[in-house]
Amino acid sequence: MTDPSDVAPRARSAVVVGAGIGGLAAAVGLARRGWDVTVLERATSLEPVGAGIALAPNAVRALDALGVAGEVRSMAALQGAIGIRRADGRWLVRADATRVGEAFGEQTVVVHRARLVDLLVRALPDGALRTGVEATVTDPGSASDAATVRLSSVSAEASRGGPGGVRTRVAADVVRTDRDAEDEPSRDDRFAADASGRGDQVAHEVLRADLVVAADGIDSRTRRALFPEHPGPVSTEVTAWRFVVPAVDGLVPAETWGRGSVVGLTPLADGRVYGYATASLPPGTRFDDPAAELRRRFGSWHAPIPAVLDGLDASAVLQHDLRWLATPLPRFHVGRVAFLGDAAHAMTPNLGQGGCQALEDAVTLAALVGSGVPDVPDGSGGPARTDGDGLRRALAAYTAQRLPRTRRVQRMSSQVGAPTTWTSPVAVAVRDTLMAVVGRVAGPLLVRRTASVVDWHPPAEAASHR
Ligand SMILES: Cc1cc2nc3c(=O)[nH]c(=O)nc-3n(C[C@H](O)[C@H](O)[C@H](O)COP(=O)(O)OP(=O)(O)OC[C@H]3O[C@@H](n4cnc5c(N)ncnc54)[C@H](O)[C@@H]3O)c2cc1C
Repeated sequence: MTDPSDVAPRARSAVVVGAGIGGLAAAVGLARRGWDVTVLERATSLEPVGAGIALAPNAVRALDALGVAGEVRSMAALQGAIGIRRADGRWLVRADATRVGEAFGEQTVVVHRARLVDLLVRALPDGALRTGVEATVTDPGSASDAATVRLSSVSAEASRGGPGGVRTRVAADVVRTDRDAEDEPSRDDRFAADASGRGDQVAHEVLRADLVVAADGIDSRTRRALFPEHPGPVSTEVTAWRFVVPAVDGLVPAETWGRGSVVGLTPLADGRVYGYATASLPPGTRFDDPAAELRRRFGSWHAPIPAVLDGLDASAVLQHDLRWLATPLPRFHVGRVAFLGDAAHAMTPNLGQGGCQALEDAVTLAALVGSGVPDVPDGSGGPARTDGDGLRRALAAYTAQRLPRTRRVQRMSSQVGAPTTWTSPVAVAVRDTLMAVVGRVAGPLLVRRTASVVDWHPPAEAASHR
């Protein structure tokens, strides 16, 4: 009988840890280049997340390279008059969102996150996504050896995907499957045990892969394992609430600035309204009824804010304390593992660029490994194997291209005004518009810096794969 650990990886197998925007985009990019991709997500389903996301021109171009920008552009709802108001309703700035498109050749698009996630999932090969599996990178691999990832699935049923009928399969080779309950249970494992009331056994598998993409978010377990010295995320002492509510008559997209707080309302393409609010609060501050807290804080602000908050249900409100990776990683790769998105460079949302940079990462990584890893026959007559030296060079190039750029954007984001300003799609669009207008007149340094963020284009090789 063959020792399972001797089973060689199939050609160009990639395991992506995390099905957020960054992980899904990387998986789509790699699959388009012929990689056999498995995406592992610990959540048992990709539940619709009740919030919007602003996709600046650089992100829309990245989505273009992944073949999904058409639908995103059609969701553009941030058009015409937008502005910044005071709490009493007086306009501080009024601008035209379409000017951003004129300045940068592409519109900033505000989409519901669930729509973006759905678009990316639909662009994946059938069965590439496995939900309900906690992934741990146990060996980052080297030029000569594959990386290994251990999976703990909460139950066979859960790992087959949640609502939405996500079909699953395994692209990378399974070298060991066993059932035991020895390891310390993860949060989801404990949840499964609690939910069943029986303490279900946990299934473990070990996958080997030519490439692992660590897209496991700001609290990345992979980052903690491979960069144990890194101090991790730090708090900004600012909290953000987000929600999506039904359409509001006569809404003019605006961000309203009060003393130390911001409220923003912007329409989504389907007519609903994406709202957000920020306030300076110690990390961990939570309220029994967040909707009531928002009414208490902002219920006396100008119309239509009170009406929007009146109809708000507490369960529809998301709250996140804002954190970022103030200390940069020394590099974005270890062995055969590439880090991207918040796992690599979580930033404050002041520039609205965290997700946009994750999309840039994904497209750049796919372009570099896609073009930089020659297939070399392994002599067996079987499919070509991935050349480890080529992959090493490609990942070094990935760090060289992405680390300095994301570091610059992280710094800019934390430096842009007070943390409670510029956090929103509307404010970002207003700023971009104003900068574009002012820039044509004076060309100040700030304009050039802003342009350097949103003026990104996918590597030529990526664009040619459309
Ligand atoms: C208030 C706020 C507003 C924002 N607004 C914008 C905006 O307008 N525009 C913008 O571009 N960005 C914005 N951002 C930033 C953006 O949300 C993030 O940068 C982006 O979502 C990061 O995506 P990601 O895929 O890297 O990580 P995540 O979205 O965090 O995804 C990580 C995934 O990995 C999974 N996971 C983690 N560990 C494991 C494991 N061990 N095994 C399996 N799965 C695992 C998690 O469950 C999760 O699904 C905002 C952020 C905040 C907080």
